[in-house]
Amino acid sequence: MNPDVLAHINGPAPHDLPAYVYDLRDLREHARTIRAALPERVELLYAAKANSDPRLLRVLGDHVDGFEVASGGELTHVRNLFPDMPIAFGGPGKTPAELAQAAEGVSRLHVESEHELHLLTTVLGDRSIDILLRVNLPLTPGPVALAMGGCPSPFGLEPAQLDDCLAVIAADPRLRLRGLHVHLASGIQAPGHLDLAEDILKWARGWANSRHIDLTEVNIGGGMGVDYAHPDQRFDWASFGTGLHRLLRRYQGLTVRIEPGRSITVYCGWYVTEVLDVKRSHGEAFAVLRGGTHHLRTPAAKQHNQPFQIIPVDTWPRPWPRPEARREPVTLVGQLCTPKDVLARRVPVRQLRSGDRIAFAMAGAYAWNISHHDFLMHPAPSVHHLDEAPVPANVP
Ligand SMILES: *Cc1c(COP(=O)(O)O)cnc(C)c1O
Repeated sequence: MNPDVLAHINGPAPHDLPAYVYDLRDLREHARTIRAALPERVELLYAAKANSDPRLLRVLGDHVDGFEVASGGELTHVRNLFPDMPIAFGGPGKTPAELAQAAEGVSRLHVESEHELHLLTTVLGDRSIDILLRVNLPLTPGPVALAMGGCPSPFGLEPAQLDDCLAVIAADPRLRLRGLHVHLASGIQAPGHLDLAEDILKWARGWANSRHIDLTEVNIGGGMGVDYAHPDQRFDWASFGTGLHRLLRRYQGLTVRIEPGRSITVYCGWYVTEVLDVKRSHGEAFAVLRGGTHHLRTPAAKQHNQPFQIIPVDTWPRPWPRPEARREPVTLVGQLCTPKDVLARRVPVRQLRSGDRIAFAMAGAYAWNISHHDFLMHPAPSVHHLDEAPVPANVP
């Protein structure tokens, strides 16, 4: 852990815990590296639903080509922060009000169904709009964390349904078809993602040729893999970029866009808390933490162990023995009255004591913003942004 992060984690008083700590410098460096690894022709959008914290978005605004939003709320939020940046609006079940909002000023609308296309024509008035048709291609990205395509799903159009959409588009000059959008899954590593990109582009070109369409854009989605079991094994952006560069030589004139979320912000966030109690039950050790999955739902949602570091706190102000687990597996739970409030299960530790601090890593995406905050009415975590200005070196 970087010393400034450690200083921040030791910083908050116990009543300030739990805390979310976002390392903005780490985020900037990571975003810069990703952008530099990609060919110039590849446009990079950030999928705001992964984490729409305004300070994170502002950092990302310097390194991405635009944002992908999935609701009218996200659209308003991102547009307020970035009046001039390109925004793509996707996602199922767009309401007439959301489509009208899109007509006001998104750079691309990702159309999910023929019905949505018809609905769009009723709110456009005299405006026109640039659209991509989202296709659920019969491609299987292999074993992935979250499949949204290549299988029955509510996302996008079947290839056979595209022709009816083309007919609607042909009849309405306000609808400008720019190309296709294909986001099939999340959790794909670089070699698999490259294979997928190759298959998508090949399919897209074949389809466009057969329909005499001048295909100028394909958005190949996000879903770049993040490995919670191995935080150091990150998506290989360098080889992904090189592979895309090679692939795109066969597709002159085509703009390719990607829209990752998790792989961009996940590493910059920490959820920091303290151990309230260490207990034993039926021979197993449990550490009860301040906070829980109502702040960090990720491990419950994904059924994984959230990676963590123990930050020992050596003072123990109580006159009675300090509860502890020593050289044994411990299950880290929160304060909720449900057996599902587990952040990490049976993880071997050398020593874990009541009063020690725990810093959960990889809490920068789909963490606070996907959690059920109000369940049990515990106080919300404090939020700290580790700024880009130099931090005094008062590391304990
Ligand atoms: C969620 C989503 C993304 C981002 O997925 P990540 O796994 O966070 O990279 C991109 N595009 C669409 C359409 C999505 O639904």
